[in-house]
Parts: sequence; structure tokens; C-alpha cells
Amino acid sequence: MRRLFILLSSTILLFTVAALFARQQAAPALSAAGDDEEFARLVKQWTTSPEFTSPLVDHLPKMAGVPSPKDVLGYYIGEPKKLTYTAEAYNYYRTLASKSPRVKVLTLGKTDEGRDYLEVFVGSEESIRNLETYKGYLAKLADPRGVSDVEAREIIAKAKPIYQVTGGLHSAETGPPEMLMELAYRLATEDTPLIRQIRDNLIVAITPVLEPDGRDRYVDWYYRHRVDDTSEDDLNVGLPYWGKYVRHDNNRDINFSQVVTKLALSFYLDWHPPIMHELHESVPLLYTFSGQAPQNPNLDPILYGELPWFANFTMSQMAKYGMPGVWTHAYVDMWSPGYLGQLATNHNSILRMFETFGNGGATTMTRHPGRGADGIPNGEQTTREWYRPWPAPAEIEWSMRDNTNYMETGVLTEMQLASAFPKVILENFYQKSRNSIEAGKRQAPFAYVIPASQPDMTRAAWLLNILRLQGIEIGRVTSEVTLKNDTFPAGSYVVKLDQPYGRLAKILLEKQNFPDPNLRTYDDAAWTMGLMVHTDVREISDQSILDAKTEPVSKVGVAGTMNGDLGKAAVIAVMQNGSNNLITLRYRLKDLKIRAAERAFKARDVDYPAGSFLIPVAGGTGAHVQGEIERLGLTAAALASAPDVPAHDLDLPRVAIYSTWNNTQDVGWVRYAFDQFEVPFDLIYKDRVKQGNLHASYDLIIIPNQGRNSKDLVYEMTPKPEPLDYKKSQRFQDLGMYGETDDIAGGMGLKGVDELQRFVAEGGVLVTLGTASFMPPDFGLTRNIDASRTSPQFYAPGPIIAAEILLPANPIFYGYADTRIPVRYANGPLLHVPEENRGEILMKFPGGDGNVLSGLMKGAQEIRDQPAIVSVPVAKGGMILFAGNPCYRWQNYGEFNMLFNTVMNSSQIVTLMHKKPQDLSSR
Ligand SMILES: [Zn+2]
Repeated sequence: MRRLFILLSSTILLFTVAALFARQQAAPALSAAGDDEEFARLVKQWTTSPEFTSPLVDHLPKMAGVPSPKDVLGYYIGEPKKLTYTAEAYNYYRTLASKSPRVKVLTLGKTDEGRDYLEVFVGSEESIRNLETYKGYLAKLADPRGVSDVEAREIIAKAKPIYQVTGGLHSAETGPPEMLMELAYRLATEDTPLIRQIRDNLIVAITPVLEPDGRDRYVDWYYRHRVDDTSEDDLNVGLPYWGKYVRHDNNRDINFSQVVTKLALSFYLDWHPPIMHELHESVPLLYTFSGQAPQNPNLDPILYGELPWFANFTMSQMAKYGMPGVWTHAYVDMWSPGYLGQLATNHNSILRMFETFGNGGATTMTRHPGRGADGIPNGEQTTREWYRPWPAPAEIEWSMRDNTNYMETGVLTEMQLASAFPKVILENFYQKSRNSIEAGKRQAPFAYVIPASQPDMTRAAWLLNILRLQGIEIGRVTSEVTLKNDTFPAGSYVVKLDQPYGRLAKILLEKQNFPDPNLRTYDDAAWTMGLMVHTDVREISDQSILDAKTEPVSKVGVAGTMNGDLGKAAVIAVMQNGSNNLITLRYRLKDLKIRAAERAFKARDVDYPAGSFLIPVAGGTGAHVQGEIERLGLTAAALASAPDVPAHDLDLPRVAIYSTWNNTQDVGWVRYAFDQFEVPFDLIYKDRVKQGNLHASYDLIIIPNQGRNSKDLVYEMTPKPEPLDYKKSQRFQDLGMYGETDDIAGGMGLKGVDELQRFVAEGGVLVTLGTASFMPPDFGLTRNIDASRTSPQFYAPGPIIAAEILLPANPIFYGYADTRIPVRYANGPLLHVPEENRGEILMKFPGGDGNVLSGLMKGAQEIRDQPAIVSVPVAKGGMILFAGNPCYRWQNYGEFNMLFNTVMNSSQIVTLMHKKPQDLSSR
């Protein structure tokens, strides 16, 4: 180690001299004012050790008339204890753009909370003047249909890659939004050969903050609670909310549900940057992504060469500058397409990704790279490996400026490579797009078909519109299509794979065959959309599907239908076809009494399954009901009299969704779904539960999946010496959003558990999802049901597996035509129900390898015949325990209906719980 260091030190010296010389040689035209000496002095002071900087970032030019971050913000980037709010950062970029012809700012939209979402272009004056022309070149390379190879070469000769670099997706990772301001200024003003090369050969697009709402909330939190905290043990003492609904999962939003992920996607599809570089903070000191196994085999082999090409260049360059702790490989894999940055690779571009070492703010502290985020020993970070040839030291003083130096040096280095090979980047981009189209012509599958004959087309439309959102082309067949093994009716949707994003369509729609059960993956192993959405999606291996005549579809809509004469109707029957829109209808018609048929019936010769709505209409209400049915894409019939079947009233329960303070995210996904389907609820926390008298306010309390176990749920974070309040104030406007508390620590405790018990005893319904279902067994709310975990050998990173409905007549399963359904496995509890209570098990996991439908479940026999849903009668009320999570990340859309049925039929479900199970034997 020592010898290596001496060698490197002399290299630094040489390089520094070389870099200084290079700067002295620079053309003086725009840098007449020289370097900012105060910057150099302060940055040196804030950099805690000489090896934590590089000749690329130890200086900053002055340029007359062009404001540096200091000129606008009043401080240099990386000053201890300084973080910048988005409004101030935006003001900087806008001021810079107003003074420099090399910078242009676009406002792309608004966030959930009304903040601007910005994109900043930096390049040569010529590039910025001709942005639209360059945009056009990239669009042609992104979709080269109709472009010959010769024409493509001509375009490449004129084009420049857009190199997009983004920060602030994760709000506690505070460094990138600071660094990017300095980067923008440096790129616009510095006149060294390297920066000139980047400025001339690339167009840099900076996304200053990907999650602006979370950024401002975190800056508030930092100044309220963290600014003077120098202990690395408390880095995880977290702000409850980043964005409105989710925290880290804005990087797992595979269906682009959130406002900010939609904005990022639409920027990509508009501008087609061949490189998207995302900046994160976690591991020491700089990890540069190279896409380790498992890798998605659908993506182009060119990409799998490009990823380590960039990563290795950065490792060797930064080692040359004398910076330790730069590594690659053993961290994030290339399996899931659902990370935000994968929108680049999914569309034939390159994802670059860094993790640097953040302090959760700008406070300098002693850090131990061999210790993980929770203080758990993580010695591997300090050991030498082939992919980590110069690991970080075991103990360091670490500052925001150190972090800035690493990030900025790394980004400039990857830009150096891209700007040295701009034509290679463009050729590869073109070739990957071309290969994607060709792959769809030559090898099966050639297409996916979504038949128009499905009982519920609202789910099919939802799926198709998510494909459209990502730029995937969809056609509708105008007449029946006959293939070797299938016939599809007119109106069916076809996704042909001979298109630029054909590979992405295949990735999203095919079954995931995890390549090696001994590998682990950073996120989900499965996402097959048809299985997640409970929609029939057929993989087509008959090449003639490519010749099927289709009309292009820009957005899929479903018009509802109403059969029969509304004028003579006494009742409107609405088919229970599993559409999630049924609950929206219920709430939009909250002033009407609606009943649910408990058996199937025929209405105007059409089969209406159990659970179909019966809506008595009188006077003018029919037309209003019809309007809503049509808008929601539902199927209905106007009947002269109600069908002769037993029925019960649908409820409009007073719903509360319970959230802990430090695991708000999975709750956020449930909130998001309820908001989307217009189901009103109160979001409640420990303070409300401890207050008691819950049944006076609520009929139904849902505890979504959250935390690792029931102790996390009940006790939450251990209280700190000082309370950690989360409250709005004059100074901290963005705290106290979505709930307020004097202390986020402590949890509901036994007092809260007792109140939940009382709530159920008094007639309330308690619904627990996923890991929250450990709590009722662990804390004695279910006296004769126990909960345990799978063995340490078991490994199930979100596979899709089969579940078997045991009591299909239970209203929870209204709309599910089959008793065997696909569900996402969520690592919830194994629930042990005594023999005499087996009738309380509504659904089970048959288990075993044969029931893994997509992705990986290692040890699938461990869940054989384990309960998936259990209903437990208690005094006047009851509990429903879902071992799985029926409302996961806006993704398992086909399972949502089980939760919505529970809401609408809660009284009936409780009534049934208290009856003998044989009463439920048939529908
Ligand atoms: Zn991150």
C-alpha cells in the first residue's frame, strides 16, 4: 500500500504540473480574469486531506460578466453547513443562462407541490444556438427507420451526443444538487483543453434536482435537526417524507406513476440523450456503475461493453490523480429495468451512475468507510479486490467539499471519455436502435397481443398506456387476425417488436427467467406486466403477425357500455369484472345506495358475476349513473327489476391508513392508489392511535406493509435525547407536510396496540398488509395464530407466484374469475393457523417451484400451503391479514381489487367471519 501511494503521489505532482501548464496555454478570450484565488484557498481548506481532490477541481476560473455560484448564492459550493434550496439553485442557473450564451434553461413542468422542474443545457455557443438542430439529429438516430446507413453516417458526422447528468433523485443525498451548479459554471467558463473538448464535442444537459419537493423538505430538515450533528451513527435518522408519496422508490417507479419520474421520462423521449448519468450517495468513496450480473440479456451487447469501458476509465484516471476509494462492479446489477436511470438503457442509451460518500448534509464528520449506514461493520469497503484496487482508508474526516471533489472529478472524467469518442457514442446509439428493430424482425417473439375480448379492458388499457408512455408503439387490428395457433378479434392491440423500443416491450411483457439462482439482485426479480395486471398478454412466435394491418394508437381509452332502456330501468347492474374503477364508481355515487349481488346472474343475456353492483335508479339519477359508467369504462345493463339473487349493501366506510414515521414509503404507495381511485381516507400516526376511541372515527384501519417486523411497527425509532419534531413553522415551511408530530420516535407502543385491539372489539375492521401482518400475531391480537419467517436460505426478491383462492364466495375475491391467481410475493409472515381455524384461511400459497410464475424464489417449498390471506373474527369486529402486499408500488394492479373489495364490503366480510366457514362454500 505504502509503495503504491508514493508512486501515485509523484504521479499527482506530475499531473498537477501538466494541468497547470495546460491552463496557462489556454486561449485567453473568455478567461481574461484568471482563476478565483479565494475559491482555491477555501476549497483547499475545506478539503480534509490532499488526496481528496484533483487538478480538475482545485481551481475555478473567473469570467467577467458571467456569475459563479458564489456571485449569486453568496457562498462557494462545498462550504461546510451550507445547503441550497431549489429556488436558489434555479435562480443561479437562470442568472447564469441570462449572462452566458453557453447556457440555456428549460422549465419542463411542475412537481406535486408546485415547484418548477428544470433542465439546463451547457455547451459551446454554437451548440446552444443550434440546440433544436442537434435534437433533430438524435431523434433520427433514436428511430432510424427510413434512414440508410449512409444517411446515418452523415447525421453522425454532424451530430453531438447529449450527455445528461442528474442529481437530487434521493433527497438525503444532498451533494449532487450543489456540485452541479459548479459544474455548469465550470463547463461554461473554463478554458482548459479538457473543458473545451467537453464543451465543443458534447452538449451537457443538467437536471439540477430530480425531486425538487424532497430537496427543499430535506434542506429544511437538515437545518432543523442535522446541521450540528457530527455523529455518523445518526445519518439514518430520517426525514419522514421526500416527495409527496415515496422516498427511494422514485428510483423504482417502473410504471412512471409519479410526477417527477414522468417528467424525467418525457425529457428523455423528447431529447434522446445517448448518455444519462445519475448521481447518488451511499458507499465510499466513489462507486462507478459497470452493470454486474445478473444482466438483462435483452439489452444490446454493445451496452455491456460500454458500461465497464466508462467505469474502468474513471477508476484509472482518478487513481492517477491520487484519489483512493474509487471502485466498480460489486454493487448494482443490470437485472431490473425499473430504476429511473434504466430509462436510458431501456431506450438504447447508456446509463452512468455514481455513488459517492455523502454525510446526509454538509456537516464535516469523522467517517468509517468500513461501517455501513446502520453502523454495521462493512469491512469489504476497505479491502482490496480486483474491482477495488485502492480501497478507502478505514477512518477519514469527510466533508461536503471532499464529496464535491470526487463527484465533479468523476463526472468530468466520464465526460472526458465521451468527448474524446463522441462519434463512437453516436454510432453505438444508432446501432443499438437499429439492432432493436432488426431483432424484432428476425427472432421470436415477434409481437405481443392484448386481445380485445377480455371482460375488463380497463386493466388492459392501463397496461397499454404505460407502454405508450415509454414510447413503445402500439397498433390496433382493424379486422380479425388469424395466426398459426391463435385468432384475435378486431380491436385487439398488437405490440410489434420490430421497433426501436421493441426490446423494452419484450423486457416488460415476457416472463423473467432469472439466470442463476445463486446470484442476488438489488431489486425485484420479476415484473411481467400481464401477470402483475391480471391481463391476458399473448407472446406471439408466428412471424406473420408483423404483416397484420394495424392502426396506430396514441392513447388507449375504454368507453363503458350500458345495455337496455334506461328510461324503463329500476336498477342498473354494473358488471364485477375485476376493474379497479368499480371502487371509483362507488365513491362517485356515494349519495346512492348500492348493493352487491352475492351470486352470479344473467342480465340481458350476459353473465354478471357475483359482486356486480346493483344500483336502484329513480327520476333523473339514471343518466348521471350512466355517464359515470361510461367515463370509467365499465359494463352495465339497465334492468326493469332487480335480479333474484341475495345481495348486501356496499359500504362507504370511514377509512384510516396507518403510517409509522420512519417507514412512510410503502404507505405512500397505498395512499397513491387510494388517491388515484378517489377513495377518501385519513392518514393517521402513532399520536392518533394512542389517543384512542378509534371506532368513533373509523370503521376500517389499514396498516400497509412497513418496517422489517412488528417491533418496527409498534415502537418505531428509539427516542433520541432530544425529540425530533416534524412540524411546519415560519422558518421550515416544508416540514409537517402529510402529518405533524412533536417527535417522530417512540411509536404507538403497547398503548397503541391496546387501542387497536379495542377498535376491533368494538366492531372495527383492521387490515394488515405484508410485514404489518406480523403485528397481530406477535402482539396477541390474534390469540391462536402465530407468525414466523422463512429460513435464511430462502430468497425471494419479489417473484410473481401463484396463489389459490380457497373461499371464492368471499367478497374479497369478487371479480376474480379463476381461483388460481398470480400475486407478487412480498416476504410477509408465514401464518400458522390451528387446524380448527383452517376455515379462516381465505387464500393460500400452493408453493413449490412449479408455482413460481416469473422471477426467482429460492426455497419455494418453504411456503407450501401457507396462508396468503386470513380473516380473524374478534368480538364485534375482525381482522384481515394479508401475508402478501396487494398494493405494491403501483405495480401489482391486478391485486388492488382485493383491497378495494375489502373496503367496499367490510361489513359483509365481518359478518361472514363470524359465521361458520361452510356457509361460504359456494358462490
Ligand atoms: Zn440514491
